Amino acid sequence: MSGEIRLIALECPRCSTPVPAQPDEVAWVCAQCGQGMLLSEETGVEPLEVFFSAGIAQNAKGSPFWVARGAVQSLGRQTYRGDSSREMAEFWAVPRLFYVPAYRLPVEEVVQAGVRLLRQPVRMEPGGRAAFHPVVMPPGDVRAIAEFIVMSIEAERKDALKELKFEIKLDPPQLWVL
Ligand SMILES: [Zn+2]
Repeated sequence: MSGEIRLIALECPRCSTPVPAQPDEVAWVCAQCGQGMLLSEETGVEPLEVFFSAGIAQNAKGSPFWVARGAVQSLGRQTYRGDSSREMAEFWAVPRLFYVPAYRLPVEEVVQAGVRLLRQPVRMEPGGRAAFHPVVMPPGDVRAIAEFIVMSIEAERKDALKELKFEIKLDPPQLWVL
């Protein structure tokens, strides 16, 4: 980790209200007008649509997740013993929703939460704006975490997994506050 401090004056692209950005944060919602924003190398911030779940409890802080539909394809499984290829093929026969926590969490917990939510997706009904924990994961990291989620799910099957090959066809992630 570098000790570099980022000093960029960020402001809302819609109403020019300054964004009180903290180091490590990568996305915000304008307190003034509600515009979502994503940190951008070139322009400071770019507009980002942020979705809020209707399920956030009143006066509670929501947790931001990158959510992307992904089709897991070209599966190849080698094992030391046993063979769960059929269960694997059945599980990934349909595209799945990948939920990647965008708030601050140790990486193992990011993957655990992603596995849990992929297996049991939550209802995604849009609701009103709410406060939320800081967004510190850039969308560019979502694919790597999605790959860890697939590997984690496949490693838990009954056979003894030796090697796994796959590709994820991942839609662009959306930022949801759940
Ligand atoms: Zn604004």
